[in-house]
Amino acid sequence: MDFQPSEEQALSVESMRRFVAREVSPLVDTYDDTTMPAEVVKSLLGKLTTFGIPNGWTSESNGGLGLSYVTSALLYEGLAEGFVDLAGTAFISEGAAYLIASGANEALKERYAKGLLAGQTIGCFGITEPGCGSNPKEIATRAVRDRAGYRISGSKVWISNGGIADFCVVLARLEDGGMQRILVDRVEHGYTSREMSKLGMGGWSTCELFFDDVWVPAENLIIARGNAFEDTQRSLESARLFAAVFANAIARAALDAAIAYAREREQFGKPIGQHRMVQDLIATSATELEAARLLTLRGFDLSDRGRPLAEAAAMAKHFATEGAVRITHASMQVFGSYGLSKDFPVERHYRNARMFTVPDGTTQINKLIVARSILGMSAF
Ligand SMILES: Cc1cc2nc3c(=O)[nH]c(=O)nc-3n(C[C@H](O)[C@H](O)[C@H](O)COP(=O)(O)OP(=O)(O)OC[C@H]3O[C@@H](n4cnc5c(N)ncnc54)[C@H](O)[C@@H]3O)c2cc1C
Repeated sequence: MDFQPSEEQALSVESMRRFVAREVSPLVDTYDDTTMPAEVVKSLLGKLTTFGIPNGWTSESNGGLGLSYVTSALLYEGLAEGFVDLAGTAFISEGAAYLIASGANEALKERYAKGLLAGQTIGCFGITEPGCGSNPKEIATRAVRDRAGYRISGSKVWISNGGIADFCVVLARLEDGGMQRILVDRVEHGYTSREMSKLGMGGWSTCELFFDDVWVPAENLIIARGNAFEDTQRSLESARLFAAVFANAIARAALDAAIAYAREREQFGKPIGQHRMVQDLIATSATELEAARLLTLRGFDLSDRGRPLAEAAAMAKHFATEGAVRITHASMQVFGSYGLSKDFPVERHYRNARMFTVPDGTTQINKLIVARSILGMSAF
């Protein structure tokens, strides 16, 4: 299988990369430790729509550009190499737009999906809770029927975009024990958030959200194809592939920096790149990255062809995210003590890479999904 980009894909990624280098990458240092404010995110996303972010893979009939998943992945990869925090923020918003377009009523589509696809609105998803992470079947946030709507009570944790999102799509438990996804508007229905501190991706908001008996009309249900829990599990499959894209982009940025440094830094009278053990670090990392990238693009290709992707997405996610930890670690080593310095970018790449082994299913959960698919036996 050949994953060379077409001429058209290469041109759009190239023009987006030029925009990113000019307008996005200069912000990386400012937002390493500080969450990007909503106005900054919206202004950048508004401009990125020209290139297909966050409006790429959503179909034209739903207001997007109808790009293939492979093209969208290449675009997100280009953005993530420049500033992964913004790529992550955009991806969550585009995922919300897709969900609304595929399961919400016309009024919600008009009010929320349009704004998301234009980069003027930001969304988030609330599944994880303080008592429930790897096993979302255990969620405790409740949606109790009240007049023509639901009262929602509970809290969500580790919610990406949580502090800057205009709304949250909340996975909640109904009185009959089933689950539903409900769109809760931050201002109109009223929920609160608290920013959480974490190791990497400081520019990307990650929050705890609190729903204190929040009343939401029944029209805000996002009706699942089949069952809300299973549909949410399916949407995690493409989220896993995008996590792999972001990990590959981080690894690429770190490795490129290490290659440039290995050519220029001299020790023992020659560039360190001529020392065999440094060559080993570069060769091993480049091979791992190539393999991760092919595995990831293969998943998107399956998605474009409407083929099952649970196993491929889980493979790509654990392989690429763990690979990015190893590659960024090796890249820091090439830099010696400067690899640990905040004046060089590789320590940031290492922090960012480490974070991706957890969301959208930890490495262990993704391995269990792969093994379940191969063996036909589930360990969880
Ligand atoms: C930066 C970031 C962003 C996130 N964004 C979102 C978001 O936008 N929305 C959202 O809803 N959630 C989000 N999450 C939450 C994320 O999906 C969960 O953290 C993840 O599913 C793991 O849950 P947990 O942290 O509770 O770990 P736990 O489930 O408590 O797991 C702890 C450890 O036990 C292991 N473990 C658990 N069960 C098993 C098992 N059956 N077999 C083997 N090992 C097991 C895990 O692999 C892990 O090593 C985000 C998390 C992070 C870090």
